[in-house]
Amino acid sequence: MYIEQEDILKHISAKPFRIISEAADELGVEAYVIGGYVRDIYLNRTSKDIDVVAVGSGIELAKSVAKKLGRGAHLSVFKNFGTAQVKCGDLELEFVGARKESYSHDSRKPVVEDGTLEDDQNRRDFTINALALCLNKDRYGELVDPFGGLDDMDDLTIRTPLDPDITFSDDPLRMMRAVRFATQLGFFIYPDTFDAIIRNKDRISIISKERIVDELNKIVLSPKPSIGFDLLDKCGLLPLIFPELCALKGVETKEGIGHKDNFAHTLMVLDRLSKTTDNLWLRWSAIFHDIAKPATKRFDNRLGWTFHNHNFIGERMIPGIFRKMKLPMNEKMKYVQKMVSLHMRPIALADDEVTDSAIRRLLFDAGNDIDDLMKLCEADITSKNPEKVRRFLANFRLVREKLAEIEEKDRVRNFQPPVSGEEIMNTFGLPPSQPVGVIKEAIKNAILDGIIPNEYEAARLFMLERAEKMGLMPH
Ligand code: ATP
Repeated sequence: MYIEQEDILKHISAKPFRIISEAADELGVEAYVIGGYVRDIYLNRTSKDIDVVAVGSGIELAKSVAKKLGRGAHLSVFKNFGTAQVKCGDLELEFVGARKESYSHDSRKPVVEDGTLEDDQNRRDFTINALALCLNKDRYGELVDPFGGLDDMDDLTIRTPLDPDITFSDDPLRMMRAVRFATQLGFFIYPDTFDAIIRNKDRISIISKERIVDELNKIVLSPKPSIGFDLLDKCGLLPLIFPELCALKGVETKEGIGHKDNFAHTLMVLDRLSKTTDNLWLRWSAIFHDIAKPATKRFDNRLGWTFHNHNFIGERMIPGIFRKMKLPMNEKMKYVQKMVSLHMRPIALADDEVTDSAIRRLLFDAGNDIDDLMKLCEADITSKNPEKVRRFLANFRLVREKLAEIEEKDRVRNFQPPVSGEEIMNTFGLPPSQPVGVIKEAIKNAILDGIIPNEYEAARLFMLERAEKMGLMPH
């Protein structure tokens, strides 16, 4: 990996870097930019988070830097952690004193002592994250790379600086981070490092679900998320952190009929969808769309393998899995549930005749998420039979055209019933009761089925007729 020194200097030319340099020299401490920011210079990416290590007190250095930067800078000191943060414009500078960490097997909390730069680099997770650039004036921009991080960058390799069994056992989250970096950057995990993940995988149990899911989200948001899930599967972490996804693996054959491997299919859908959206929750919807296939799998002598209602059962499985994995139990989850429950609808539609009524109902049920749903469904077509794929995609085009047409005509996407429950109650002198619901539902269905237009007058007339059949008169 060769980058002109000039280019490196460009990345550390902003005012805050010069000021750190000046302050460090005055305090007589060595200061380095370290970690992700340096890695990203070599990957030709810019990041806003800058980690600075001082061989000495990080807090004192931060204080001096904040003072020199003046009014534009905001200092926060975290005395307990021995760290400080300086915010300056859109840059976030984190300061820490170089430290040596020693772990005992039964605790996640290391014993921390002051250390040298090398001690600090030793406690980093991967060689590519241990690169440091000196900021002191007479060594400004000098790279300190004791573990061959640049060579690993050339070889697209994720490797631990120390014996990987020690690195992973000390902080098992690093196993997830290895997979995450491999997925985000398109790197390979060094064989020794990977074998150590296999050996240490059970230690993941001491890591909080929140930290695990943070890494999973980063994997899901990567350009090709399947890389991460395949790696998690191969190293044996996946059954420990997401057994329901693992359960999709495998193919069963009966009477010469097999079904597709739903794990491979799910990952293919996820990758295909990821080409069209950065929406994290739509991507999670792809991961969950067939989650109930193992639970609903049956062999029918006439039909072969069936997975009846796997969309609805999947919708119901989601809250339990979200709770366990500490995914959010809010409208994000509801959105994923909705996508999973509706994911068969456009396919069923494209299969049959595309009637206006079916389109209206789909629009009504999906609301503003209809475009997301269509993306998911298109990604779901992974058949190897090109003729089948062509037919499906052509039908989808038809569904999309019809959707646009009906939406323009009937505005059902954000459907509000033109006659409210209150008006029904007032008209017939009814208390809140079942007949009110029955009439309201009948009006909704009449509109969705195209029996009446989505307009107030027509809906009111329909209400009167319907009520009369139930023996109700306006009072
Ligand atoms: P990103 O910003 O994409 O998450 P990053 O490498 O900047 O990537 P951070 O989590 O901000 O990730 O970590 C900054 C640096 O701190 C890393 O580059 C690494 O040197 C070190 N680091 C972070 N977490 C760990 C860990 N669990 N074990 C060892 N070193 C770590």
